[in-house]
Amino acid sequence: MRSAESVDLVLRDVTVPDVERGTDSPRVDVAVRGGRIVAVEPRTSLTASQEYDGRGAALLPGLHDHHLHLLATAALAGSVDCSDVSSLVELGDLLRAAAPTSGWLRAVGHHESRVGRLTRDVLDDLLGPGLAGTPVRVRDHSGALWVLNSAGLDLLGDLSQSTGVERDAAGRSTGRLWRLDRELGVRLGTVAPDLAALGEHLADLGISGVTDATPDLSGETVALLDSARRTGRLPQRVMLLGTPDGTGLPASLSTGPAKIHLRDHDLPSVDDLSSAVAAHHGAGRAVAVHCLGSDALVLTLSALETAGPLPGDRIEHASVVPPVLLPRIREAGVAVVTQPGFVSVRGDDLLRDIEGVEREWLWPWAGLDAVGVPVCGASDAPHGPLSPWEVIAAASTRRTPSGRVVAGHEQVTPLRALRGYLTAPEQPGGQLRRVEPGAHADLVLLRSGLEEALASVPVNPVRLTVLGGRVSRSGRDRRRSLPLVVRCW
Ligand SMILES: [Zn+2]
Repeated sequence: MRSAESVDLVLRDVTVPDVERGTDSPRVDVAVRGGRIVAVEPRTSLTASQEYDGRGAALLPGLHDHHLHLLATAALAGSVDCSDVSSLVELGDLLRAAAPTSGWLRAVGHHESRVGRLTRDVLDDLLGPGLAGTPVRVRDHSGALWVLNSAGLDLLGDLSQSTGVERDAAGRSTGRLWRLDRELGVRLGTVAPDLAALGEHLADLGISGVTDATPDLSGETVALLDSARRTGRLPQRVMLLGTPDGTGLPASLSTGPAKIHLRDHDLPSVDDLSSAVAAHHGAGRAVAVHCLGSDALVLTLSALETAGPLPGDRIEHASVVPPVLLPRIREAGVAVVTQPGFVSVRGDDLLRDIEGVEREWLWPWAGLDAVGVPVCGASDAPHGPLSPWEVIAAASTRRTPSGRVVAGHEQVTPLRALRGYLTAPEQPGGQLRRVEPGAHADLVLLRSGLEEALASVPVNPVRLTVLGGRVSRSGRDRRRSLPLVVRCW
């Protein structure tokens, strides 16, 4: 390269740590042109109109969140968060205080086993006569259940043909609607959530790519994501698991393994599941199987053993893993995408709800590492904490909000947890992406060296994020600033 040649961006005086070994590099300059890294060398002669002095801090590849739900996370900003509520009285106070003058009141994060069972009648009582006309919907923490008040049910109309509607002995809807998100969205109309705000927030956290794990994505949703990508409102790379096989995606999006969502209370037969896996494999597509309980895991392993492996197969969550299954997971050739963040936000609930030896099997990581299963952490936002730095902290401490430790033998170091975010979208837990010439210029400049940054997680250490060669944001810690306004489905 000629001296004094001009490029798009130069990050001067940074270290590029070897994340595999945890060692630092000598200080270098990193030059970017056309969305790619073109030089990693000491005191480069390349110049750019945009230059940053790294002051010796660490420069990493951009982080990839291997499992989240983009639209639901964006929509969370328009919801009342009731995950910290501990009684129905408190929930009533929160809902009444947040009630809008028009439209829906939407709340998320209700924890029934801690706060109490919700039905339309309970909600009507909590809201009182003053808010009898305000439609309210409350989602439970698992995301599987919506509870609507009477005004909300009236707006939905006739549900007699819908499965998932709980009814009392007299056949009247209790207001409890299981796994009806899609139908509810169709009936009420979906207001597109603000992906630009989410894109900024992700950039603040150092995230340059995401895998959206939402099942059954509609053409409308794909078009919405494509538009957000093309207009730059969502600057992160996006891989989708929930598109049907054979769907051609626009260049702004990529297809990942096919999401198979197993419901713990309604599991398919091994034959049906292995046929589904074989059909996806036959279409040249790996699978990503949602497994929460151990029954779902046993079923999935049997189905994978019957269908045979395809590189890229993965298990989402694996939240309860009896140790006897570890060798079978290894043999099945799957990666596990885990969410230790659930321990840090819901660990006390887990310890209360789960008894005996299963407590030691919750959200494993070190045990999977020990048998050689590729593992990476991910947020599962909006169900788990979005910040990778919170997830990394949770993976290493495994502490609940009250400070208890969940399955402490499954702790991994912050460096180990970080590595998962640096693996390629199509290879979670596999090969690390690197800061090297030719690589995509998706980069994260920290405020300090890597060791210092990892010692202070969950504090966000990101100073600057570069997405596709452009400086997207200077990092800010905005963990607590999601606004509590009411907006969309
Ligand atoms: Zn998920």
